[in-house]
Amino acid sequence: MISVDEAKKLIVERVSSLHPIKQEISKSLNQVLAEDVLSLIDYPPFDQSAMDGFAICHSDILEQKEIQIIGEAPAGKPFQGKISAGQSVQIFTGAKVPEGADTVIIQERVLKENGKIASDGSPLPKGANIRKKGFQIKKGDVALEHGAVLNPGAIGFLAGLGIPSITVFPKPKVSIIVTGNELQKPGIPLKDGQIYESNSFALIAALASMTIEVTKILTIGDTKNTTKKSLASPIENSDIVLVSGGISVGKYDFVGECLHELEVENIFYKIAQKPGKPLFFGKKSNCLIFGLPGNPASVMSCFYEYVYPSLRIMQGFKDAFLKTAKLRISSNYEKREGISLFLKGKTKETEVEILEGQESSNVGSFALADCLVYLPAKKGSVQAGETVEVHLLP
Ligand code: AMP
Ligand code: MG
Repeated sequence: MISVDEAKKLIVERVSSLHPIKQEISKSLNQVLAEDVLSLIDYPPFDQSAMDGFAICHSDILEQKEIQIIGEAPAGKPFQGKISAGQSVQIFTGAKVPEGADTVIIQERVLKENGKIASDGSPLPKGANIRKKGFQIKKGDVALEHGAVLNPGAIGFLAGLGIPSITVFPKPKVSIIVTGNELQKPGIPLKDGQIYESNSFALIAALASMTIEVTKILTIGDTKNTTKKSLASPIENSDIVLVSGGISVGKYDFVGECLHELEVENIFYKIAQKPGKPLFFGKKSNCLIFGLPGNPASVMSCFYEYVYPSLRIMQGFKDAFLKTAKLRISSNYEKREGISLFLKGKTKETEVEILEGQESSNVGSFALADCLVYLPAKKGSVQAGETVEVHLLP
């Protein structure tokens, strides 16, 4: 049996990012860049008016001259010609500033009469209301660095630089195998001794919230033959296989034995933690395999503490683990040393409350939780007001 810290260290050591792929920017939300992206253009690509007004020569303003309007420059339709002293072009936001002009005076600041304008006398610096060509970014400069997460702003930024596709870390291919003779699908009446299968629902939802789709889902009974057969092909064809149940040492738990026979490397089995002690983590060629203890709250704890960071590392995220906070616990909690606890908690500003229903079979407390309170193995009971480490659920 290993410690929580050792298990996490092994995850960091043994999980690597997936092979990058080229992908359209519109399909890349929340994915991580696997390259430095260079701008294809100067941005803006030309001296651009930031306002509706008149493109002028600044010296005309200083001399308080009347300025003749010689044409119009709407966005997307540059004025064909050059401005000389005493001349202006009516210009609109986003339009190219005509040659010869060095300043834009906004329309609210001019007096306009008989095809001529004059400044109302408000101070106006040279270059006002013009976004200079390339002021935001120059062609060939790094727009976004390797490792950047593509949020909606990033996708808009890249589109604005004319970049249709980029190299990102892909989404992992995930298979889920649910074991248990006693499991029935929700919606069908339970026979004597049956319970409803809930783990695949929780796992699929947790993956969906990471925008990861499950490629294959199998529900199987507790026989060695089916277990071994059902594991083989997902291990060949997935980046990660999540097995629910059957990983303990009961007579009908076949997952460990079958993974061994399928030559899956055992990286760790059993962590000194509650819930989720008999967690298995292994690898066969490039596929990761997690054997999750079947109790519904164990599945969720193990998912968030170990599977979630693995999936994030595979997708190139630098901050793979759940975000943490230090909060004051709102009541005493009894605990013995030697085992780490992950308790479903609810944060309230600087405090955290330990929820009712911490049994590993009770996933109901997860429905109310927004964090896991981590009480490390070396710690005994905690007193109300003590600061504890909290892992925030995403
Ligand atoms: P196991 O790890 O297979 O020994 O299962 C531990 C406990 O979790 C047992 O009480 C199972 O009935 C329950 N369990 C296992 N798999 C599921 C599942 N997919 N959905 C709900 N409960 C489950
Ligand atoms: Mg079972």
